[in-house]
Amino acid sequence: MKAASIRRASMDAIVAQAECEFPFECCGFIIGDGSVEEVRPVANIQNRMHAEDAAAFPRDARTAFLMEPKEHLAVMLEVDRRKLAIRAVYHSHPDHDAYFSATDRAQACSFDPSEPDYPDIVYIVTSIRAGKFAHAAAFAWDFEKKEFAETKLTVE
Ligand SMILES: [Zn+2]
Repeated sequence: MKAASIRRASMDAIVAQAECEFPFECCGFIIGDGSVEEVRPVANIQNRMHAEDAAAFPRDARTAFLMEPKEHLAVMLEVDRRKLAIRAVYHSHPDHDAYFSATDRAQACSFDPSEPDYPDIVYIVTSIRAGKFAHAAAFAWDFEKKEFAETKLTVE
């Protein structure tokens, strides 16, 4: 299973964003290739969707995230244009542990419930308690078990 290795600067950026957006979840990507590694925060529009249609979006951004579609697309286009790759998708859990929830799994497998949209990347979840970073964990797709499992997260 794929292990997660990210740079200290990336981790610092993810943690700063998560603390800043507390008590709401934040989200984004780590992109890169070879010597390049960059963080691309994406706005979480879950609160807006919840306000507009609470039946379709019962959770607000305290317990869910939805990436702003144009920002999401801009990252995809940048990755393509610069011939980089998506290394990780990250999001935060305000006042919850850093686990991979059933919702996270469903979101990661948005096209086909039996396979992630990005089977070769890692998913990083940060736990933010009372506005301060508490813990981070990484999850990757186990191709044999066909399920997500926690994997080693190295920050260097
Ligand atoms: Zn989550």
